[in-house]
Amino acid sequence: MTKKVLVLPGDGIGPEIVGQATRVLDALIADHGLDMAYESALVGGSSFDEHGVPLTDEVLEKARQADSVLLGAVGGPKWEQFEIAVRPEKALLKLRSELELFGNLRPAILYPQLASASSLKPELVSGLDVLIVRELTGGIYFGQPRGIRTKDNGEREGFNTYVYSESEIERIAHVAFRAAMLRDKRLCSVDKANVLEVTELWREVMTRIGKEYPEVELTHMYVDNAAMQLVRAPKQFDVMVTGNMFGDILSDCAAMLTGSIGMLPSASLDANGKGMYEPIHGSAPDIAGQNKANPLATILSVSMMLRHSFGEEALADKIENAVSTVLDQGYRTGDIYTDGMKLVSTTEMGDAVLAALK
Ligand code: NAD
Repeated sequence: MTKKVLVLPGDGIGPEIVGQATRVLDALIADHGLDMAYESALVGGSSFDEHGVPLTDEVLEKARQADSVLLGAVGGPKWEQFEIAVRPEKALLKLRSELELFGNLRPAILYPQLASASSLKPELVSGLDVLIVRELTGGIYFGQPRGIRTKDNGEREGFNTYVYSESEIERIAHVAFRAAMLRDKRLCSVDKANVLEVTELWREVMTRIGKEYPEVELTHMYVDNAAMQLVRAPKQFDVMVTGNMFGDILSDCAAMLTGSIGMLPSASLDANGKGMYEPIHGSAPDIAGQNKANPLATILSVSMMLRHSFGEEALADKIENAVSTVLDQGYRTGDIYTDGMKLVSTTEMGDAVLAALK
């Protein structure tokens, strides 16, 4: 059956980078047998300007009906003065919660051609390919009760609740094990089971679910050691799975190991493999409208969508190989440019990827 994708370009550089990603989709549909149809809609600040809200009920319903969503980025200085409830970023939070996108996949890939962009020594990171699976809708960021209260002695104290139910751990475990099955079949579960009971349960459930995936080698690591290992020897990892807060920190750390924010895609998945795919960067207002933005993170988000939601492994590989080819050919947008390379615009980078796809 034809897969339906909702495309939400958003604000700032969003329409420019998504424009290149949909050119890739068009080419795969026309020339490589991809059975997919997509339609576009407004989200974020551009939706606010048109409809007074960052996400209309109509667009939310379209996202519900779609098999997956491809998003650019939202936000910008124009909308920062408005109250939080109508800020562009609210649209993303609403999409994530309404679509129950609890499984966040954040790859940190450093193409050998860009190894000098990292703050670590090239030999430590060249060819890095780690996938961090972060639980996105639970844990301490959402646990109740929470707040700031005044104790009997008049002193104030802040408190949050770190809680995971077994079913929440089970469903993120399945996302992580399935992702590992598509890769090198090694999964490292990150917790703090020596101190926190909630992660003692996390470890127990991960181990139990692991028995359903005998091909995947499961290991466990405390979060402090995991942070250390990520900057000491990051290539030891294949897939890492962890809760919301640890994942927030570790995935940003891993992304920065690559030094190139314009190269990194991400996915947020529900229990059935439906996902919202987007680059990890924002709307880059400083370069918006100048045809300068790097579209590769968004193009790689399409490849993640094909792999994780639609089982189109061969086409996903094709996109990733095309990206690697254009880097080999020396094409660079400003954010990844180094001396001696060919500086190209957003659309020229899109042209190069389309040529490499052929
Ligand atoms: P940003 O990621 O937009 O930009 C940070 C820096 O990286 C800027 O110098 C920008 O030019 C550069 N950059 C980012 N993406 C690039 C690309 N594809 N090609 C070349 N250079 C790129 O982060 P910010 O400046 O902190 O935020 C700008 C706006 O984006 C804010 O309104 C913020 O709320 C929003 N934002 C949205 C998302 C999202 O939609 N998921 C994520 C982060 C930030």
